[in-house]
Amino acid sequence: MSVTTLSSPCRRPLGAHMSIAGGHCKAVERALRVGADALQVFTRNQVRWESPPLNAEEAVRFCGLVKSSRIRFVCAHASYLINLASPDLEVFTKSRRALIEELRRAQALGCSGLVLHPGSGKGDDPMRARHRLVDALGEALDKTASLKVRLLLENTAGQGAVLGASIEELGGLLADLQWPQRTGVCLDTAHLFAAGYDFRDHRKARGLLTAVRRCIGIEHIHVLHLNDSRHACGSRRDRHWHIGEGEIGRQGFANLLGFSEFGGIPGIIETPKGDSADLDRDKQNLDTLRMVEGQADCHEHFDSQ
Ligand SMILES: [Zn+2]
Ligand SMILES: [Zn+2]
Repeated sequence: MSVTTLSSPCRRPLGAHMSIAGGHCKAVERALRVGADALQVFTRNQVRWESPPLNAEEAVRFCGLVKSSRIRFVCAHASYLINLASPDLEVFTKSRRALIEELRRAQALGCSGLVLHPGSGKGDDPMRARHRLVDALGEALDKTASLKVRLLLENTAGQGAVLGASIEELGGLLADLQWPQRTGVCLDTAHLFAAGYDFRDHRKARGLLTAVRRCIGIEHIHVLHLNDSRHACGSRRDRHWHIGEGEIGRQGFANLLGFSEFGGIPGIIETPKGDSADLDRDKQNLDTLRMVEGQADCHEHFDSQ
């Protein structure tokens, strides 16, 4: 029987990744519209290498808006273009520069962390790819040593030659960086599931928790990306789906959110937005998560009677 302390369902900041179309302040409005108290944004247009500098006034306005709102957690997600494991010198060079710039932007926006995918070696020797990644991450941390914002490595679905699909590998990367106060991990449920962690099963979910505790340390998990998966467990395909409507289903989320160890860790959905201008799909997905989490608490309590 597990000993799990009862937790209030509203304790975990819960929110969504929101578009910055129209400026960063619009993302805050969008988050508040869906009842979120956590928010994730891109620091800039994520599909281009070059962006105009961050508007300092807009950044100050953004921080002020967040502060005066119910939002308790803000993080940024780095551009998908960045690949610090790339064997292509041009991509690698651009990525190194872009990461440093994104860390500075994330700090200016008051973000506690910048989520980054570890990247792909694209068929190059995996050890060489990993070496490039660790070197470049270390350089970015060195060059932004005065900042507080954390670099949060996100686990991946394991598609192609991407790094970071296993808990052990992520833990190893963190250990090599040797910068605990500036680094951490973002765990994405859809990626965990696609990479083969079948946490629909309570016992396997416990095993995952044990691996996280041993290889990373719960205190180094700073955000959860809560996404259901369109594809099967172990498919190594990265396609997010609506909470409870994908292959993970409600039980999988109940198992993870029911762990008191993950209790206060903020959760962010990155599920399809749908057509509604009112972001109804986000509202529904957040409602489902709150319900699942509430039920998970009762379930654990019942379990331990
Ligand atoms: Zn994610
Ligand atoms: Zn994904």
